[in-house]
Amino acid sequence: MTKAQGPDLDSPEARRAGGILTIDLEAIKDNYRRLRQELRPVTCAAVVKADAYGLGAARVAPALAKAGARTFFTATLDEAAAVRESLEKTRPSADIFVLNGAGAGSVEDFAALEIMPVLNSLGEIETWTAAARNAGHSLPAALHVDTGMNRLGLPGGELETLIAEPDRLAGIELRYVMSHLACAEEAGHQLNGAQLQRFEEARARLPGAPGSLANSSGIFLGADYHFDLARPGAALFGVNPTPDRPNPMGQVVRLQGRILQVRQIDAPQSVGYGATHRMVGGSRVATVALGYADGFLRSLSDRASAWIGDRKVPVIGRVSMDLITLDVTGIAAGEAHAGGLVDLIGPNQDVDTLAGAAGTIGYEVLTSLGARYHREFLGG
Ligand SMILES: *Cc1c(COP(=O)(O)O)cnc(C)c1O
Repeated sequence: MTKAQGPDLDSPEARRAGGILTIDLEAIKDNYRRLRQELRPVTCAAVVKADAYGLGAARVAPALAKAGARTFFTATLDEAAAVRESLEKTRPSADIFVLNGAGAGSVEDFAALEIMPVLNSLGEIETWTAAARNAGHSLPAALHVDTGMNRLGLPGGELETLIAEPDRLAGIELRYVMSHLACAEEAGHQLNGAQLQRFEEARARLPGAPGSLANSSGIFLGADYHFDLARPGAALFGVNPTPDRPNPMGQVVRLQGRILQVRQIDAPQSVGYGATHRMVGGSRVATVALGYADGFLRSLSDRASAWIGDRKVPVIGRVSMDLITLDVTGIAAGEAHAGGLVDLIGPNQDVDTLAGAAGTIGYEVLTSLGARYHREFLGG
């Protein structure tokens, strides 16, 4: 009942923490459905690496399963194991793939948890065919071919070898052939078309298997990029997959910081480490209990804004480990007071805006969100 109104910001747990992070699982589910709509009839997987981009895979993965997700990607085997456990009730049969490949764990570990590797090299393919021989039956896996990112996946030379010697895949049940786009968020980038063409050529010459190319932004490059399975991560969590257009995704995260103290500055004075910001006499400074140790990046020093209700207030001076300072001169004392809350990410300032002020991307802001916040989940 209180859920609909949001979390209890005055609970003892919420009061003990310097900041409150509210993660809207209903918004994540809506975002999943929104992407699925864009992809129809293509299948939409969910990338939940790095603890679901810092938001908590144990809660996020089951919410996505409830919205219909059946296929999940993580970076590491430990992450995959945690996701498998989290899905025990909602989706025990989920397909879970480890992007970092067959070397990310022992063959036994993959088998015991029924987790599949994304094979990134001829060496990993060999590991997996040997495992299949030992097991006496075929083993499922995805195959990642590099089409121009030069990061993970079979490099061009190895791809040619595999095409010439397809028996190297003996015993592997090829669930997907996939690749990854380097510049999908720049719709006009020439590498997008080049990667698409290389991916189509590679698929035509490899044993037949469903294809997967698009990440969040790739979904919005159009149906040519969709193939059989899309792999969005960031867009599920509210990051704008189309940075040159309005965000089609709903916001998922709200971050509020607790004011510890409000001080009056009577004569010109500097604030904070390095004395980088000077205040004039007759101004007021609010000190808020979060800092770079909470992932409120130090590069936001003198750059970011906070919101008190609908009033924008600047972050002044250096972001320190546990504290930030705000100029609240224009805010009524009744609204900026010790124990009150300010919004750092929320209705007035989305993840991408804060990231822009820090000179980074929403992905980094989300995955940096600290462990000290009091976390509240809405819905699920
Ligand atoms: C992280 C990742 C994704 C998801 O990317 P987003 O931009 O977050 O949608 C998809 N595929 C691969 C291979 C990845 O590493």
